[in-house]
Amino acid sequence: MKAIVVHEFGAPEVMKFEEIPAPKAGAGQVLVRVEAAGVNPADTYMRNGAYAIKPPLPYTPGFDGAGVVEAFGEGVTKVKPGDRVYLARSVSGTYAEFSLALEEQVYKLPDRISFAQGAGVFVPYGTAYRALHQVAHARGGETLLVHGASGGVGIASVQMARAMGLVVIGTAGTDKGLELVKREGAHHALNHGAAGYQKEVLQLTGGSGVDVILEMLANVNLGEDLKMLARGGRVVVIGSRGDVTITPRDIMLRGASVLGFVLWNISDEDAADMHAGLGAGFENGTLRPVVGKELPLAEAPRAHKEVMEPGAFGKIVLVP
Ligand code: NAP
Repeated sequence: MKAIVVHEFGAPEVMKFEEIPAPKAGAGQVLVRVEAAGVNPADTYMRNGAYAIKPPLPYTPGFDGAGVVEAFGEGVTKVKPGDRVYLARSVSGTYAEFSLALEEQVYKLPDRISFAQGAGVFVPYGTAYRALHQVAHARGGETLLVHGASGGVGIASVQMARAMGLVVIGTAGTDKGLELVKREGAHHALNHGAAGYQKEVLQLTGGSGVDVILEMLANVNLGEDLKMLARGGRVVVIGSRGDVTITPRDIMLRGASVLGFVLWNISDEDAADMHAGLGAGFENGTLRPVVGKELPLAEAPRAHKEVMEPGAFGKIVLVP
């Protein structure tokens, strides 16, 4: 099969498009013919070799993917050949024509969700679900700031929070991104590149501040986030690419909380809750992954460069 293979950590170009043997499904495993693989910022951190998860070399990248079950090993009961599925991680990586997964890493893909959309399910929507439901415990009627709403996690968060009955403010860095954020359900969209937009956030809440912030770039924003929070407010740190200075008294005065998580640490119980909730949202149409760009699998290096550039617009997916 054709696959992307990383033989050494480094720049995007270390990803090589190669012919390698297709994996075979052992007991408890499922072989999926990948129709689309999702590109996440974490894929680039891992490829650089500077991430908490450092796979043994060589490896094939990719946590997200969607396709059709090709074969399964002994003991598998959840899916059968021909089923449309999305992957929530895998054993062999998703940037390939076939991906080997454990039975528990495979979930049915509702008919209304395309394969390209399905490649943007687990990391973006799983992160949004965990942040809103399991970490922030967001409630209907609360006000939410999605700080970085134009990308994969941001769009998922906007759609989900809107369906939960929150008042949603989303930010983006381009006009196209702002339009997208509004289109996907935000009540208000602000440009995080504009001077003084934090004041507008406060004005939109009548000066009382937002109840929850989902933060995609904490190293830039956390200090200002704390000043935009209402009493009892919560900031969930989802993304951060460096250090930041904060004023701890901003937390004290508001009785606020700074929370964080990595999706990889989710318990089996929370994962079951998450996939059930996402499945319902995809079936009833409240969750609709936005595919901004589809690229051929061989162009993985380009996808890794673009996912780290400003001007996000939904998901970038690779098509084998
Ligand atoms: P993405 O699709 O590349 O989107 C990045 C988002 O960040 C875009 O909306 C972008 O907006 C926004 N952004 C850029 N500059 C910003 C600023 N100064 N303030 C606020 N937002 C800004 O990435 P993603 O998949 O949504 O992931 C977002 C972050 O969360 C990444 O750092 C990723 O590594 C992390 N993440 C963490 C977990 C976890 O388990 N904790 C899981 C998934 C993702 P514009 O491009 O419009 O400026």
